[in-house]
Amino acid sequence: MSRFNEPPKKSLGQHFLHDRGAIDKIVLAVNPQPGEHLVEIGPGQGALTIPLLRKHGALTVIEFDRDLITPLMELAEGVGDLAIIHKDVLKVDFGKLAGEGRIRLVGNLPYNISTPILFHVLEHSEAIVDMHFMLQKEVVERMASPPGSKVYGRLSVMLQAVCKVVPLFDVPPGAFRPPPKVDSAVVRLLPKPAADIGIADPALFENLVRDAFGQRRKTLRNAVQALCTSEDIVAAGLRPDARAEQLAVAEFVALANHMAGLPRPDAKP
Ligand code: SAM
Repeated sequence: MSRFNEPPKKSLGQHFLHDRGAIDKIVLAVNPQPGEHLVEIGPGQGALTIPLLRKHGALTVIEFDRDLITPLMELAEGVGDLAIIHKDVLKVDFGKLAGEGRIRLVGNLPYNISTPILFHVLEHSEAIVDMHFMLQKEVVERMASPPGSKVYGRLSVMLQAVCKVVPLFDVPPGAFRPPPKVDSAVVRLLPKPAADIGIADPALFENLVRDAFGQRRKTLRNAVQALCTSEDIVAAGLRPDARAEQLAVAEFVALANHMAGLPRPDAKP
């Protein structure tokens, strides 16, 4: 009989993987190596946890659902060294968790908060070697899409500015219990070294990208008018009549860095 007696909680995005093929493919993609610090977000009933623990011998997991903690601990007994952090992942300081080293992240993420989780973990991208996440397929498509694509937007630019995004494979709803209403996909994210990112002012970059895609149909000049003038856009080497969806990630970085180099309108001389 299963140790997990509680029914899956919709509010926590609980869709538990049961398909052996999908589980094996994820473990193979992660391919943990001796000495690495592996961290799983949302271990649930241990579908990925136990195979990863068996392969790697040690694993840290972050789980918010109190009902899963004891059964998970029992399930891992004799398999390996499982450290459970019972906490909301959005409150975990990944820089602190990594300590002096760097961590590798893996997780079949709760889809209802997958974008906030992505933005949260990327605040500490210098502490992360790589990430393997199961997400809604539609979200993975947005993350990986190139300029000019219908789904290229804020998520594509914000993610691609700091990571290499590599979609790996799709997973159908039937691989989960209960099945989600959407298709899923596994993606690998490889944070870029700080020197390659080159964003002078991350908050300004974020605001610019948000405004640029706030109203997709507007020209760049109109969409970002709260932050820059047509002259600024030209000075950064871009066309004011372009639309955000046509701009490469490097062009957003160029415009944000140009603005970061100018005195703020409210700055005292
Ligand atoms: N890894 C398991 C699997 O593949 O079967 C479970 C995946 S399930 C889609 C998502 C997991 O994330 C659940 O165990 C859920 O309780 C957990 N979770 C949801 N919100 C969370 C949060 N804010 N912090 C940490 N874990 C959370």
